[in-house]
Amino acid sequence: MQRVLSGLVVIALLCAACTVGATPGTTALPNDSSSPGGSSTTSNSEAVTSTTIQLTSTTLLQQPLGLLTPSGVTVAILKVMSDGYRVMTPCGNEASVATGVPLGPVDVVIDPGHGGPIDTGAVAPTGLVERDLNLDLATLTERRLRVRGFTVAMTRTADYATPLEVRAHLADRLKARIMVSIHHNAPTPGPSDVPGVEVFVQNDSEESQRLGGLLWAHTMEALGKFDIAWSAASDAGVMTVLNTRGSDAYGILRRPATPSALLELGYLSNRAEAELFATPEYVMAASVAVADAIEAYLTTDAVGVSLGEGRVFDPNPGVGKDVCVEPDLG
Ligand SMILES: [Zn+2]
Repeated sequence: MQRVLSGLVVIALLCAACTVGATPGTTALPNDSSSPGGSSTTSNSEAVTSTTIQLTSTTLLQQPLGLLTPSGVTVAILKVMSDGYRVMTPCGNEASVATGVPLGPVDVVIDPGHGGPIDTGAVAPTGLVERDLNLDLATLTERRLRVRGFTVAMTRTADYATPLEVRAHLADRLKARIMVSIHHNAPTPGPSDVPGVEVFVQNDSEESQRLGGLLWAHTMEALGKFDIAWSAASDAGVMTVLNTRGSDAYGILRRPATPSALLELGYLSNRAEAELFATPEYVMAASVAVADAIEAYLTTDAVGVSLGEGRVFDPNPGVGKDVCVEPDLG
């Protein structure tokens, strides 16, 4: 599940067969009008465009916890100053920002896995890069949730690195009810008639496990409508992954107090899946499924599927501050 990258840098790659320096690719975000039909009856009525995003709220301005900077980067506010804000940057440093859109408590934090030139995540044989696919899917999911009336923030909003502890801190600082981390997997485990969706959940959180069960149920249903040569591990499902010390192995689950789940939607290393993942139809269907699962979590007591047998695994540490390059905060 991980690969060691060059020099002094050890990158934890949850979806591991990753290549450094691959050319980024992007997936065009589709309009709902071309939807082949997702798992939600509301999907076709959602007008997902940039003009539908409403970030300002008078109630949020009173106790700003985070900030959307002028350049569109989400940061946690450390202190409100007379002339602006002290914030935690995406690389985990402190900086001053004069202005931006204040964010209050949010319903959901969406975490697009990986980011930046070093932490690409998995790279498909087709050239599709996980960090870009994760961001496209996360962005469309965020927009859907906003249209449905939920407050949402993203741990990264463009192609830059941000360590796992910063992502976790942001979710906690924004008092998110949940965080969902979006990934695509590698290496390919073997052929399967059904998608190989895996959802990793927090060992000590029943809420994380309920969220994971809903994410798995909704995404399996949505992806199962695509008739392709899937791949899956024999134990695919909802599970905990503990390190040999008995803690959640993945930092994005171990670090935050926020109930969180890590979603691995499929295998980029499998050419058939990579070709599907590059299509607007996939991004649309997957975003509807993830949004549906989150909505079900937030508005019902539904539980989805139950926890399967867990794994024990010691991943490498995540991308560190020493190789993190700050994005422009505006
Ligand atoms: Zn990943």
